[in-house]
Amino acid sequence: EQQLSQSEMLTFDEALPWLRYVRMHGVKQFITMFRELKDLTSDELLWGDEIEYHLVHFDVDKRTVKVALRAAEVLAELRQKEHQLGRRDGFGEACSWHPEYGAWMVEGTPRVPYGGYTADLRRVEMNMRLRRKRLAAVLKSTEHALTIPAFPLLGVGEFTEPNAKPDNQVTQSSTAPDALITPIPRFHALTRNIRLRRGSKVDIRVPLFADVNTDAAALAEGIKMDAMAYGMGCCCLQVTFQARDIDESRHLYDHLAVLAPVMLALTAATPILHGKLADTDVRWATVAASVDDRTPHERGVAPSDADPAHTPERLAQLAGGGVAALPKSRYESISVYLANCGGCSKSYNDINPPVDQEAMDMLMGAGIDPELAQHVAHLFVRDPLVIMKDRIELDDTETDHFENLQSTNWQTVRWKPPPKAKSCGPIVGWRVEFRSMEVQLSDFENAAFTTFVVLVSRVILAFGLNLYIPLSKVDENMRRAHHRDAFTQEKFWFRKHMAPPQQPVADPDECEEMTILEIMVGKETYFPGLIPLIFAYLEAIQCDPETWQQMQTYMDFIRRRASGQLATAAKWMRRKVATHPSYQHDSVVPSDVAYDIVQACTAIAEGRAREPMVLGKQWIPPLRTDDAYYVPLKHATIQRGQREALLESYA
Ligand code: ADP
Ligand code: MG
Ligand code: MG
Ligand code: MG
Ligand code: MG
Ligand code: MG
Repeated sequence: EQQLSQSEMLTFDEALPWLRYVRMHGVKQFITMFRELKDLTSDELLWGDEIEYHLVHFDVDKRTVKVALRAAEVLAELRQKEHQLGRRDGFGEACSWHPEYGAWMVEGTPRVPYGGYTADLRRVEMNMRLRRKRLAAVLKSTEHALTIPAFPLLGVGEFTEPNAKPDNQVTQSSTAPDALITPIPRFHALTRNIRLRRGSKVDIRVPLFADVNTDAAALAEGIKMDAMAYGMGCCCLQVTFQARDIDESRHLYDHLAVLAPVMLALTAATPILHGKLADTDVRWATVAASVDDRTPHERGVAPSDADPAHTPERLAQLAGGGVAALPKSRYESISVYLANCGGCSKSYNDINPPVDQEAMDMLMGAGIDPELAQHVAHLFVRDPLVIMKDRIELDDTETDHFENLQSTNWQTVRWKPPPKAKSCGPIVGWRVEFRSMEVQLSDFENAAFTTFVVLVSRVILAFGLNLYIPLSKVDENMRRAHHRDAFTQEKFWFRKHMAPPQQPVADPDECEEMTILEIMVGKETYFPGLIPLIFAYLEAIQCDPETWQQMQTYMDFIRRRASGQLATAAKWMRRKVATHPSYQHDSVVPSDVAYDIVQACTAIAEGRAREPMVLGKQWIPPLRTDDAYYVPLKHATIQRGQREALLESYA
């Protein structure tokens, strides 16, 4: 990050003549990297989660909550303390802290990835708790870390602490000042260049929830948001795995893509956006629209006459001449299976996404198989958004230009090739990142979903399962995942036979619509369900009893969520709004309602309040900011008065 902020970036106009150069060399760099690393294998299963946090500021007298624009300071302090404390107060765990798009957000990961043993599954929640504790330790007494995807009052009234200057040169937003963007030049450049490429500020529209008093005009307009911060200011939960080799990484990529919409619906936690109740439950479409840099031609809408941003000369310099139809934004569900095994019939790749033909020809010419070529050529229908002045004319053994496009194609699953080897440090292999899940209120839930995804990935490999369905059906599932209460009210396309059926069937390839509960626990005799398969797998590998027990708690929680016995955070928050005395049943979430909800969210996360609707009887241990595990056993002196009281209470 430091390096990025020190070297200068081209302005959008300066970048125009270089866009094609960067894209073509990005493809060449991919080809060079692929040739060098395609046979790289990794013995170790490594994996890790990422959690993003909002920093919020409460004023308990005024009953207001705002985003605390202190991430830069907090991050510096976290990193410094992390360096000092290391593993000392964390049961052998340590954390790593990263900047995020919002100036009120941070991202935390385990310091080193978890490993490939059953006991590593138990580290997740411990590490997440340590992160929350270390974060709490550097926050002011008025500040808390909040883990829901969207801060409910973003862009409403005075919603930042300190109050932000109204500057909006970068976003041109009428509600989201530039001070919301983390002061790293790259984030500002991303924001500005998305707007400039598009030719107008972003235009996010989410359907408004219709309540009894909702204004008809408001309903027709929906929730309108006009800045990248509304989307990239959302927090999520991600899980990255290292695969054994490139083939396994491609196989996992495809299978996790099928699961992405299901897990999005099951983790739904975004019912409120920009101070209003949405008619959808998840963040995804909002983020997609928040980084939509497509020109009107590309989006398939009429371009405005004499648009100075899109003169023929300027358009000609963009990818696809700036006019090729692009049905999706840069932040979207995947459009190509990497399909490299017998189980994947080519017919599943039924979306026919746009590709950059020049890139496609280069990749195919280099002997890369059609599916992988299509994947990469699809990434390269986009333009580079940020180009560093001193990193343009590079050797094709570098990876900057490939990474430039790779890191700004934000899909439900990311296929991560190994980074360029450093002279020191471990060799990192072929990885896959699962990116669809909404961050959860508590670390218990975040750990449950993280370990679920890890175990499902193991089950897929160990049992040789086939989850393939046509990608058009995965996209349909993605649309359904947005619906209110999709976790119980929707059905999702899923494959009937994950393994070859025992008895001959008319169509072994068939898929059908299932509830998430059926996907999780099974359907009739032909579909065993993912959770029973997880336990079959744990038995097959002779899992240690402590981990087994912990996994049972997690899987039981997930089963109860899928059954509707437990609510998603989205459902719970809707209930909180609907039953609040200040709510006028007009789909507008008043400031004090948002305050009470965010207070409740942090109280649940920090173990100060129980919420049976979301967690049942699960107890969240109170968060301590002192050295809970390293209270010295020796040197304790118990004062006289205290001694009597203690002895009495334990008598
Ligand atoms: P990004 O922000 O690009 O998604 P991060 O650097 O934040 O990536 O890391 C994502 C996750 O991957 C972290 O939880 C980290 O612990 C984990 N991780 C790091 N190295 C590996 C590896 N070799 N294999 C799998 N996961 C890894
Ligand atoms: Mg990260
Ligand atoms: Mg990142
Ligand atoms: Mg992040
Ligand atoms: Mg993010
Ligand atoms: Mg990530």
